[in-house]
Amino acid sequence: MSLRSALAAVWVPPVFLVALPWTPLFAQTPQQSVFGYADFSAEAKVEQNFLAVPDAKLAGEELRTLTAEPHLAATPEDHKTAEYVAQQFRAAGLDTQIVPYRVLLNQPKVERVEAWDEAGHQLMTGPTREHVNGDPGQDDPRVVMPFNGSSGSGDVTGDVVYANYGRLEDFNELAAQHIDLHGKIVICRYGVNFRGVKVYLAEQRGAVGVLIYSDPQDDGYYKGDAYPTGPWRPETSVQRGSVQFLFKYSGDPETPGVASTLDLPDSARVTNTGGNQPHIVSVPLSYHDASPILQALAGPGVPQGWQGALPFRYHLGPAGVKVHIVSQQDYQRRIIWDVIGKIAGSQDPDSWVIVGNHRDAWVYGAADPSSGTASMLEAVHGVGALLHQGWRPKRTIVFCSWDAEEEGLIGSTEWVEQQGHVLDRAVAYFNVDVGVSGPNFSAEAVPSLKEFIRDVTRSVPSPVAGTVFQQWRTNRSTPNEHHASNAPPIEGEEVHVGDLGSGSDYTPFLQHAGVPATDISSNGPYGVYHSTFDDFAWFTQNADPHFVYLQQMARVLGLEAVRMADADVLPFDYVAYAREISAYLEAARRKAADTGLGSLDFAPAQAAAARMAAAAQRAYALESVPSGNLAKLNLALRQTETALLSDSGLPNRPWYRHTVYAPGEFTGYSAVVIPGVNESIDAKNATLAAQQLEILIQALDRAATALDSAR
Ligand SMILES: [Zn+2]
Repeated sequence: MSLRSALAAVWVPPVFLVALPWTPLFAQTPQQSVFGYADFSAEAKVEQNFLAVPDAKLAGEELRTLTAEPHLAATPEDHKTAEYVAQQFRAAGLDTQIVPYRVLLNQPKVERVEAWDEAGHQLMTGPTREHVNGDPGQDDPRVVMPFNGSSGSGDVTGDVVYANYGRLEDFNELAAQHIDLHGKIVICRYGVNFRGVKVYLAEQRGAVGVLIYSDPQDDGYYKGDAYPTGPWRPETSVQRGSVQFLFKYSGDPETPGVASTLDLPDSARVTNTGGNQPHIVSVPLSYHDASPILQALAGPGVPQGWQGALPFRYHLGPAGVKVHIVSQQDYQRRIIWDVIGKIAGSQDPDSWVIVGNHRDAWVYGAADPSSGTASMLEAVHGVGALLHQGWRPKRTIVFCSWDAEEEGLIGSTEWVEQQGHVLDRAVAYFNVDVGVSGPNFSAEAVPSLKEFIRDVTRSVPSPVAGTVFQQWRTNRSTPNEHHASNAPPIEGEEVHVGDLGSGSDYTPFLQHAGVPATDISSNGPYGVYHSTFDDFAWFTQNADPHFVYLQQMARVLGLEAVRMADADVLPFDYVAYAREISAYLEAARRKAADTGLGSLDFAPAQAAAARMAAAAQRAYALESVPSGNLAKLNLALRQTETALLSDSGLPNRPWYRHTVYAPGEFTGYSAVVIPGVNESIDAKNATLAAQQLEILIQALDRAATALDSAR
């Protein structure tokens, strides 16, 4: 959206024009200067020893094991993968526990979709079974029928309206054309926003059901050859996925803010509150099943941008077709299993460096998430080898294998809610989800860690040539559209690191608990997302035949943990953070002026951002840092991120407490920056926008105070 492109020409307060503040802390070794280290030579040896261990062949074997069976959350096969990961953690020397939670999850009992034309001729019945020639896993009876996590149950019949991507602007366009959605069934295509947002908007406008299909324009034959010839989505392939209202809160619908431990009494769970789930039914479809419905749909022709790649003209409806949907969901409180492996820190054991990846999959989950899990297991292998050589990290390292991410970041959210204030000392959370779907490295991070992740990739060899950083800079890679915020590069940046929105397990850490976070992936053409075809056969044919990108991601992820755990000074760049907030404020000011809220005063907030930057410079400019004061400096640096949380949270969604980053109410995946301010401006609510600016100013001043406490 326009907010991002506005970042290309930011106003920079004069305070940022001075030299980089952390020069005194750069190591002066001939081979490398590394932010956060006074002398990097000893650590450089540790890192070389680490990088030698992650193994491509072993990663491939781990991937094969993890993808041997469908392993939907809370199934016996999911439990087997938990045991496998726990065994690998223990073999590496990690203090390992399987941590169960009891959470509300739906599994499908009946899914049926039928359509008739106006003459009463049946157009289709479905869903059609996913099938291509030669895929080895597709006929396994444990492949769950396509369904949406968090869908309502129901039996509904109605006229049909096509809503393009189901964005806010798409629904507004339908309203402008006087197409009423009450009692209707909305059919919309996957892409652009999070699927839960599509259902949220359809429900708000009175629809009784939603069909979400994969248009070949977005990830099918329009993009390239379909599987099994190429990597793109074949005709019968369906994208499963959660339609949870993730932007309200993530995790167990019944326990916002509370951990769903096994001993949590049922009376402590909130039921029937609406919470973070829709009430209406929603069913995902292949284009094989959606095509007859769309082809028969009459009414006005679509706006040009709404036409997909099916070989006929699309129409909006509501004439021409009647659809009947039956969706029976089996909602139960089911047991899920996180796997947590710890290495106690030798100097500062209460400061945790956390690495996480989810393990559950809609079906086999080769790219999503097992490529991430295999990468994490090889990172654990490397750290285990260091332990064997006698190394101990200064800070504690915690490796986490999350369950039920697919249903709504549930395993990670419940764990974060259980830790509570213990995480006030957690220095970072490093996430990987779809670790590898191709060769193009991509990263998102809080601004304080953007240079850190670039730096780490400068130390990791690329399977192509040179370093991961050099390849990243050459490729200007396509961000992972399913889990990343697709921000375009900012002018003058060497490589772009995006902002964290939502759609993966960093959300509870950053946006609820205030833990600085990064998310990394290696991307390519990936048309089988959340289908049965995201399996080992697809992966070895299309994504990474020799598993060298699994090895690369293991090295990057593991090095993030090792470097952060051993740093003398936490390598957080809060000058960059304040600079980005200043740019967000300037973009919001322009948007406010464009939308008739020009009287909003942004100067006090800009002044607060400048105070935060100045405080960051004072903190880093501590010329010689006696070791006794390092602990104080590190505590100050860590508290700065927490200072950006507000106790009251965002308007109408108090679980989201971060004043700078949240998933957008109408985007879901991509970040809305300074969300309280921007969403009030979008709603044209000047009073609320002024209040939210005040809350942001208080947060920025708390951050400045935290930074000044280093002195
Ligand atoms: Zn995933």
